[in-house]
Amino acid sequence: MMDFKLPEELQMLQQSLRRYVDNEMIPHERETLEGNELKPEWRAKFQDGMKKLGLWMMDVPEEHGGPGLSLLAKSIVWQELGRTIALPAREDGITGPQVRHILFQLQGEMREKYLLPTLRGEKRGCFAQTEPDAGSDPGGMRTTAVLDGDHYVINGVKRFITGAGKSDFMQLMAATDRAKGSRGGISCFIVDMNTPGVTLTAQYETMMGDRPWEIVLDNVRVPVPHRVGEEGKGFGLAQKWLGAGRVKHGSRALGVAERALEMAVKYSHQRSTFGKPLAERQGVQWQLTDIWMNLDVATLLVRRAASLIDDGQEARVEAYHCKYFSDEMAFQAIDRCMQIHGGIGLTTDLPIERMWRQQRSYRITEGASEVMRTVIARHVMKAYA
Ligand SMILES: Cc1cc2nc3c(=O)[nH]c(=O)nc-3n(C[C@H](O)[C@H](O)[C@H](O)COP(=O)(O)OP(=O)(O)OC[C@H]3O[C@@H](n4cnc5c(N)ncnc54)[C@H](O)[C@@H]3O)c2cc1C
Repeated sequence: MMDFKLPEELQMLQQSLRRYVDNEMIPHERETLEGNELKPEWRAKFQDGMKKLGLWMMDVPEEHGGPGLSLLAKSIVWQELGRTIALPAREDGITGPQVRHILFQLQGEMREKYLLPTLRGEKRGCFAQTEPDAGSDPGGMRTTAVLDGDHYVINGVKRFITGAGKSDFMQLMAATDRAKGSRGGISCFIVDMNTPGVTLTAQYETMMGDRPWEIVLDNVRVPVPHRVGEEGKGFGLAQKWLGAGRVKHGSRALGVAERALEMAVKYSHQRSTFGKPLAERQGVQWQLTDIWMNLDVATLLVRRAASLIDDGQEARVEAYHCKYFSDEMAFQAIDRCMQIHGGIGLTTDLPIERMWRQQRSYRITEGASEVMRTVIARHVMKAYA
């Protein structure tokens, strides 16, 4: 028989995290942020909590000192942390440095200069792929890297780069052959932020509080050893990291939907209109039932994608399906929760409006829903041709 239950150790992890989020995060969730940044005292407290739970350096493979968690285990962590708005929407850093797959490809001197200080928390890197004219379709990027002796000369503009202002270096995607685009024309480079020709030209305000940057690269000279992997293979490096990111999106969405359900059910019992609690209205019950049913489906999709990737399978379609369905499902759940709460749901007294804004953004970033559907469509058209 297929086993739909989590292994016992993951059930225990989930219970411990749930207790931690309920007791240490949710009661303080309106105090922990300054703008969209975690206040240093709360960062230290949450980092300490994560260390006690054995989740420190969670994104780091075991051979580099991480706890060696499976993607399924990580998905439980993301799910449980998704139940609170005590953390910023992106880049909370409470489980240690967020190290992208790209840095683990570095060897020798580059490893000493970038990977190891990042693991020690001494350096920070951002990921720069999106451009004003290339977001969903990064293969069409205009930033070019042209070989000139023992350097590449890089020119272009990157947009919406999270954390660029606080970074020491960027993991930059640039076209080494624009004609080939995503089919072998994109390479990845490590570029120090203080390299001559790198300028942070704008910072965007967003409805989630995130403030990503625009970066201009004007004749930036980067030594050849700063290219990560082979020329033209950079796009594959980014994609690999984005695959696990899709499971992260799906997992976090489960937490959002579950919190929405908890709040909506509770409020529907408390609030009466026209002489009856909302909980006794079929129109409300069916909304709550829909949230629960979709959450149940999304949970299976997330667990399947994580388990397949843990099993060494590519699971590309499953990961896309998991992100698309879960992010859409969670936005609908928090939107319904807001509706059930009426006016109070729109106020900053409750976490609903912030969750709503954050979840709205996840339907666009790291792969818009339509792009997920387009990839799934290719699979469907082929599978049923
Ligand atoms: C807060 C924030 C942080 C970010 N951080 C980073 C970062 O650190 N590094 C980085 O590189 N990028 C980052 N991004 C960029 C983000 O990943 C892109 O915004 C996202 O990929 C969408 O690209 P775009 O905005 O150019 O939209 P477009 O690609 O212009 O798409 C616009 C819309 O068109 C629709 N669409 C697109 N393609 C299709 C299709 N094939 N079929 C049907 N409809 C389609 C979708 O609805 C989509 O939302 C960030 C963005 C934000 C808002």
